[in-house]
Amino acid sequence: MKFDPAKAIQQLEQFGEFGGVNPSITDSATFTFLGADTMEHTFEGETQGCFLYSRHWNPSNKYLSEALATMEGTESAWVTASGMAAITNAILQLCNAGDHVVSSVTTYGGTFAFLKNYLPKFNISVTFVDPTNLKQVEEAIQPNTKVIYTESMTNPLLQISDIPALADIANKHGIKLMVDNTFSPMIISPHKLGAHIVVYSMTKFINGKNDAVAGAICACNDFINSLIDVNNGTSMLLGPVLDPLRSSNILKNLNTLHIRMKQHSYNAMYLANKFTEIGLKVSYPGLPTHRGHDVLNRIMNKEFGYGGMIAIDMITAEKANILMEKMQDKGVGYLAVSLGYFKTLFSNSGHSTSSEVPKDVQEEMGLSDGLIRFSVGLDNDIEDT
Ligand code: PLP
Repeated sequence: MKFDPAKAIQQLEQFGEFGGVNPSITDSATFTFLGADTMEHTFEGETQGCFLYSRHWNPSNKYLSEALATMEGTESAWVTASGMAAITNAILQLCNAGDHVVSSVTTYGGTFAFLKNYLPKFNISVTFVDPTNLKQVEEAIQPNTKVIYTESMTNPLLQISDIPALADIANKHGIKLMVDNTFSPMIISPHKLGAHIVVYSMTKFINGKNDAVAGAICACNDFINSLIDVNNGTSMLLGPVLDPLRSSNILKNLNTLHIRMKQHSYNAMYLANKFTEIGLKVSYPGLPTHRGHDVLNRIMNKEFGYGGMIAIDMITAEKANILMEKMQDKGVGYLAVSLGYFKTLFSNSGHSTSSEVPKDVQEEMGLSDGLIRFSVGLDNDIEDT
């Protein structure tokens, strides 16, 4: 039977300690133990269900993690203070000094900067590839490669990663496939398609309110436990835990994600068609002209649509700036970075969220100087907007 992430979350029953329909918020950094022995065993990782300290686990974070794991179909999940914390912690947990990463060249600019500029500090090398060129991906694998990293729908070019094919390559070489699914929650279920680790910036669609920065790592029990191991877990030792008050808010927002994704997708499809009609160069995975359209059709959970992200190419930054300022004046949305908000947001990627990517690499990957990335909002009447 086909996996339905929305139904999976809907069937999850999580109650507050007094029968509240929402789980109670536990805003405690530390927890008492009835016996000294239990405390010692909890530190040794032997006591299930005991909370030790909130940098490790907190009940509110556990509820949100449980819901995310349910949505992804993974055994477990762990919530982080940002999307970057999720990405960096998962990679640092997988790789030791001397290891190698094969990564999509088109990723969020912060991810690119981490891979390109930061990992060399630890003697971890990275080969950047076009994630849609499977031959190039496989040829980049070296004996010391630990992970293939990609985004299911890449930022900002909206390429579609063929996750089952990439998972086959990873499995053949005994390495992990890690996928950032920030642009397409519900629409794509990367773990169900073979990815070993799924990461999110929950700052975006999952929370949907632009009032919090948060992230998540969804994976098997062993990987999540290794991240929070008190002796050598990257997350336990670097400490990017999500605040439990934020977790409880995000959990409530997660329960409306399926409806929001449908409306983002509906509005984005309308705009993509309109932009095409007036002769603009549009990239939207829902259009048959998009290079990843067929792959997306094959891997997506269809009822949620093709997503809320569109890119149009205005060729030059000057033209893009004029259009963005006009759209803001006319109330179409806001000239702002980020995405997944109820209002439409737009920015020139090459001059903002991908500015960490050097100009020559931008050109090589096909990122135009005039590319405007839209995160289409939840407008009730997009035609009127
Ligand atoms: N992944 C993607 C695809 C993003 O677009 C972003 C931020 O824009 C991130 C990760 C980083 O997330 P955060 O800002 O929550 O650290």
